[in-house]
Amino acid sequence: MDLLNTLVDKGLRRELPTREEALAVLATSDDDLLDVVAAAGKVRRHWFGRRVKLNYLVNLKSGLCPEDCSYCSQRLGSKADILKYTWLKPDEASQAAAAGLAGGAKRVCLVASGRGPTDRDVDRVSQTIRAIKEQNEGVEVCACLGLLSDGQAERLREAGADAYNHNLNTSESTYGDITTTHSYADRVDTVQKAHAAGLSACSGLIAGMGESDEDLVDVVFSLRALDPDSVPVNFLIPFEGTPLAKEWNLTPQRCLRILAMVRFVCPDVEVRIAGGREVHLRTMQPLALNLANSIFLGDYLTSEGQAGKADLDMIADAGFEVEGADQVTLPQHRADVAGGCGSHAAAGCGSGAEAGCGSHEGGGCGSHAEAGGGVCGTAAAAPVPSAAEPRTDLVAVRRRGAGTDLAPNA
Ligand code: SF4
Repeated sequence: MDLLNTLVDKGLRRELPTREEALAVLATSDDDLLDVVAAAGKVRRHWFGRRVKLNYLVNLKSGLCPEDCSYCSQRLGSKADILKYTWLKPDEASQAAAAGLAGGAKRVCLVASGRGPTDRDVDRVSQTIRAIKEQNEGVEVCACLGLLSDGQAERLREAGADAYNHNLNTSESTYGDITTTHSYADRVDTVQKAHAAGLSACSGLIAGMGESDEDLVDVVFSLRALDPDSVPVNFLIPFEGTPLAKEWNLTPQRCLRILAMVRFVCPDVEVRIAGGREVHLRTMQPLALNLANSIFLGDYLTSEGQAGKADLDMIADAGFEVEGADQVTLPQHRADVAGGCGSHAAAGCGSGAEAGCGSHEGGGCGSHAEAGGGVCGTAAAAPVPSAAEPRTDLVAVRRRGAGTDLAPNA
């Protein structure tokens, strides 16, 4: 296919595809899906080989958020029966982080619900970062605390943070449909603050919230313009008790196309499959490793992932390898830029990112995902599941790890 040859060539040169090319990836047919994965896989392997980076989430403070992000189980008024607790102590957080690192993770992501940290919260998280760094040599620490005020990114950097996450989540034009308590511009501002402080910027999206293909392309192009080092791709987990509980719009095929599009637009960036991996990709998860070079190990903020051991088995069975602490994640031209942030590939600088936390949850209203083909059954009596059917059976609220007395999943 000419389209795929063109996109591979551009990806190897870090050249931005056109919007039409990105939209065409999302519009490919199921018959062409393996060709799309193979093409994007060439770009992935060129920049990242067969390495898979493992990241581990520690939810420092869960629930009770005053913001109204529709996709989030921790939002204002959420009826989701999630764990709710206030700040973990530095030792508790360090213990949780150690479990993830022992399981093979090299980055720990410290996340807290809320609009953004107070200066006292930054002190608290700084102590936690220092504790984790002292007790775990070589660990990468990413903070995800919401919208940052002036000077806070610098203080986190001084405490030893390597990266800061704040997702744009969706396109600027639909942002107001998802959240009303802060703006897309607020989010962009925080990503830029993180960049400016020398932190490696991590910013991504949530698919499945009712956005159009154009919205998806818009947000991914905005991300490329902001030039983060890592782009988490979340697939909405429609939590009961949130406004987006009925938004089951994704199929495994749709998820693969979205990941392929993100890889073509952000070829040399750490593309991470984030929340919703197990729920939406399901048995197609191993195929997605050809597109993304990074995943979360174990559980998410408020929902449970598959067993950490299953993640490791999947990586090995698919012919990939877990990236070691001594291996550099990013391609040389990115890794060389101080703090991991950079000004390379991207075309410009966006103005629509977002802040924050909670993007491993997923909510979202959607209407485009597609109706994915069912499997072809062999016995007339057995109900044949459709790939697009709601899979509420796969959504499990987190009941272990941080904030509980039970061992974490790692
Ligand atoms: S995504 Fe973050 S800011 Fe938004 S409701 Fe959830 S915890 Fe609050």
